[in-house]
Amino acid sequence: MSLTKLDQLYRQVILDEANHPRHHGVLVNPTSQVTLRNPSCGDVLKLQLELKDGKVADAAFSGSGCTISQASGSLMTDQIIGKTPAEVETMVETFSDLVINGSVPDEKVLASASILKGVHQFPARIKCATLAWKAAAQALTEGEQHD
Ligand code: ZN
Repeated sequence: MSLTKLDQLYRQVILDEANHPRHHGVLVNPTSQVTLRNPSCGDVLKLQLELKDGKVADAAFSGSGCTISQASGSLMTDQIIGKTPAEVETMVETFSDLVINGSVPDEKVLASASILKGVHQFPARIKCATLAWKAAAQALTEGEQHD
């Protein structure tokens, strides 16, 4: 497959993800929540987590923003459910490295969220892609403080 075709495929997947986001909405029993803004683009993302038995039992996001921020929120929430806070922290760091550098030693930890690595070609959109992940890191940190 040519690079252009591959780029088009990724674009389609990202558009699908943004148009039909998974885990979009609010949780009934969130244990922590955080709202982050990306002023450079106007993205607003509210993330709710439900931590149970040392794992992320459920996650949901709401708010509004561009295609990249919405797709990233959908992919992020889908990937962190069932993970421990330590695993999520590793994923957040890996995702940030991936969209900044375009490659990481082990992108497998991100599973389907690694399709956003093409964002590294568009530095202005990196904050759009990392917004949801920063929210996850912050929600976990604040959750620990309340414990
Ligand atoms: Zn954006």
